[in-house]
Amino acid sequence: MAKIKNDLLTGQAFLDSVRDGREVWYAGERVKDVTTHPAFRNSARNIARLYDSLHDTAHREQLTRTDKYGILTHKFFAPSYTAEELLEARDAIALWQRMTYGWMGRTPDYKAAFMAQLAEGFSFYEPFGENALNWYQKYAAQGLFLNHVLVDPPVDRNRPHHEATDVFVNVSRDDDQGIYVSGAKMVATGSVLTHATFVAPNSGTAARMQAGKDEAFALVFIVDMETPGLKLIGRPSYELKADSPFEAPLASRFDENDSVLVFHDAFIPWENVLVYRDVEKAKGFYAASGFFNRFNLQSSTRLAVKLEFACGLLMKGTEATGTNTFRGVQTEVGELISMANLVWALTTAMAMDPEPGVGDSVVPKLQTAAAARVYMTSAWQRVREIFEKVLAGAPIVTVSSVADLGQPELDPIIERYFRGTGLAAADRIKLFKLIWDALYSEFAGRHALYERNYAGNHEQQRLDALNWSDGRGDSDRYRQMVDACLSDYDQNGWVAEYLQNS
Ligand SMILES: Cc1cc2nc3c(=O)[nH]c(=O)nc-3n(C[C@H](O)[C@H](O)[C@H](O)COP(=O)(O)OP(=O)(O)OC[C@H]3O[C@@H](n4cnc5c(N)ncnc54)[C@H](O)[C@@H]3O)c2cc1C
Repeated sequence: MAKIKNDLLTGQAFLDSVRDGREVWYAGERVKDVTTHPAFRNSARNIARLYDSLHDTAHREQLTRTDKYGILTHKFFAPSYTAEELLEARDAIALWQRMTYGWMGRTPDYKAAFMAQLAEGFSFYEPFGENALNWYQKYAAQGLFLNHVLVDPPVDRNRPHHEATDVFVNVSRDDDQGIYVSGAKMVATGSVLTHATFVAPNSGTAARMQAGKDEAFALVFIVDMETPGLKLIGRPSYELKADSPFEAPLASRFDENDSVLVFHDAFIPWENVLVYRDVEKAKGFYAASGFFNRFNLQSSTRLAVKLEFACGLLMKGTEATGTNTFRGVQTEVGELISMANLVWALTTAMAMDPEPGVGDSVVPKLQTAAAARVYMTSAWQRVREIFEKVLAGAPIVTVSSVADLGQPELDPIIERYFRGTGLAAADRIKLFKLIWDALYSEFAGRHALYERNYAGNHEQQRLDALNWSDGRGDSDRYRQMVDACLSDYDQNGWVAEYLQNS
């Protein structure tokens, strides 16, 4: 095996590495440098900060380890072989999440849920198994930042897949160098700042694919962001729209832009192809990889940190309104604290009670991961409801801008009527602008949409839980338990011996 260049990125190396020819469009212009453009630059700085932490003596022991190839990498970027290693990976995820207070979902460790498993599961991708292993090694050695797009654009979903070659990503031709793809995918979170995109059908789409008809769509490949023919079309940037950190303290630094990816005869070299025109493999890779089991560990850990942050916001908010001593308010705070602790407990269960993964790896148990996914995707709605009920109208009691502070004419009024309970007006306004950004702003609305949908539509999340319960024999077990109960008695009384004569 050739010696692998083990060069975990630093923050600066990361920023330099994404200054390339990528075609990112924003507000009618092609972005020259995503690391300095006001739509993305603070988000880029946050990612850079994560990379720097890998080299920081205060953090590197908790964040990194050496894999079986001798590659030093982030703990979640390599497969875990024991429950203890999974727990250490969880703690590494948590350390990064704490650096963004849980507000960036697609930090580089998200896609590690999939990429790490290539180290053990590369042979699944034959005849492209070597590509899979090479990608793992390159990925782990540098700690690359990959995003993914799995979902077709929200149009013509009622048509058979193979009729939608005008929209859905499909291959038009190949040659001895690689393949040529066209079409679009929605939406690639954080993609403007990544090194590459992982492109595949999601499990729902793959399940509907038909052998003999859908081969042109049965693709799994990785595309470098600077690939000619690949366009990234971003949504409005809340970072750019933010007037100042004081007005939008989260949006102005943690906004992960979601982009539609459009391929126009884009060339993908063979070394970036994992599945090609193979419907069965396209259907199977998702389950076979352990990605599902692992991404829920990353997402749950992120949510646990975000929930802790929400607890802090609610506590400080109710203290500022003076409602924190009311019994009803306290019960809602208690519920929020319990939600955070429940999600932490789920992450611990996912780590400490795993199941065998590909090769010698272990991954979180499927049932626990599926349960976490269903809970997580509805939990944030409850958080919003608690804030809306408990803080009620308080968050809207604010000034239009920081410019209202320090006006001699307004000063005494603001100090008197905008103060919090035991809190100066400027501090209360600062706190409630943070609460606004977290729960009510445009940035917050996008977060709520994200939490509900990022792991698939609300029905698919639940249907998967049912199907996996059937598939793993849990459903039979549940029925058998009820059958046992029913067989304890009949129309004449007890059948169970221990209850007879009573
Ligand atoms: C903020 C944000 C960030 C995202 N980031 C990413 C990302 O980085 N990468 C990525 O790949 N995706 C991303 N997504 C997309 C996300 O994965 C999808 O939105 C999610 O999977 C739901 O798919 P959909 O939007 O196509 O909705 P659909 O799946 O079309 O669901 C819409 C409705 O149709 C119903 N429905 C769907 N199929 C059927 C059926 N067969 N029969 C009956 N009813 C059906 C559903 O139950 C639902 O009520 C992101 C989405 C958001 C909002």
